[in-house]
Amino acid sequence: MTTGRWLCCLLVAFGFIFTAIDASAGDADSLYRKCVKQCEETGSIGDISIQHCQFLDETVNSSWYMQEPLYMQWKQLNCRSDCRYYCMIQRESEREKLGLKPVQYHGKWPFKRVHVFQEPVSAALSALNLIMHFNGWLSFFLLVNYKLPLRPQSKRTYYEYTGLWHIYGLLSMNAWFWSAIFHTRDFDLTEKLDYSSAVALLGYSFILALLRTFNVKDEASRVMFAAPILAFVTTHILYLNFYQLDYGWNMKVCIVLAIGQLLLWAIWAGISRHPSRFKLWTVVFGGALAMLLEIYDFPPYHGYVDAHALWHAATIPLTYLWWSFIKSDAEFRTASLIKKAK
Ligand SMILES: [Zn+2]
Repeated sequence: MTTGRWLCCLLVAFGFIFTAIDASAGDADSLYRKCVKQCEETGSIGDISIQHCQFLDETVNSSWYMQEPLYMQWKQLNCRSDCRYYCMIQRESEREKLGLKPVQYHGKWPFKRVHVFQEPVSAALSALNLIMHFNGWLSFFLLVNYKLPLRPQSKRTYYEYTGLWHIYGLLSMNAWFWSAIFHTRDFDLTEKLDYSSAVALLGYSFILALLRTFNVKDEASRVMFAAPILAFVTTHILYLNFYQLDYGWNMKVCIVLAIGQLLLWAIWAGISRHPSRFKLWTVVFGGALAMLLEIYDFPPYHGYVDAHALWHAATIPLTYLWWSFIKSDAEFRTASLIKKAK
């Protein structure tokens, strides 16, 4: 494709980003807010009584641990979470009777819980993604350290991006770990950890895409490439954690980072005529399709499977293919470096 066409695609993509709707109409609803406030104060909604909100009876006949500030905080967290859940269910059934469509609450669709799992499907799929990354990273580790030859003097790998991919593997596993936790229990803390880990991974993989596609090998240039992105991503994470967790703005940042790296890889695969370019193109194409699921969100089917869960399902095969590409790249670079040395 010509540069003009790429630019056009990019503009269309950006158009989508800025029309994406800001989430959470549900928790802006005054009836919902009133319900949560009342529930937290009284510990009940209608005939449902929320056990975690019963603070008073416990202080009377309480054991030592019930007085612990940490324990009290934990109860308060669960009280709020349960109140939000039951008020959401109540509001949604009222809305349904009025013929209104489901809306999001605190950035999420109304899901049905299964035991402690708030979004069982997304939580399970996140765990599977974590396993896929561990598997991919482990086979990469074995390949570069044991199967491929090492540099005779330094005993280091020929592949110049080994360390960078190791960090990538760690950040990926970290992000999926917190994703699984967050989809299990949505607290302020787990939410921030999930969002922060995801942004850190996206920012880092953008840097990695730049370094690999521009063949940046010396430390000084790598720092130069990484510094502005690192600064931006760090600021963004601090903003989310300590200023405002703005879902709409965060979505835009994530999509720009994601589209940026997908384009980098896709263009580079074509220009460099990389031997594994078809793997790379499949991942890019699949990744772009999967990303549409994040943008064109829909409410959960029967209260369980929403667009976000499908997105987590789609990334499982893509992860397998992605690590397969990384391993091919290591083999390719090693072979050409050895050829050059001879
Ligand atoms: Zn998720």
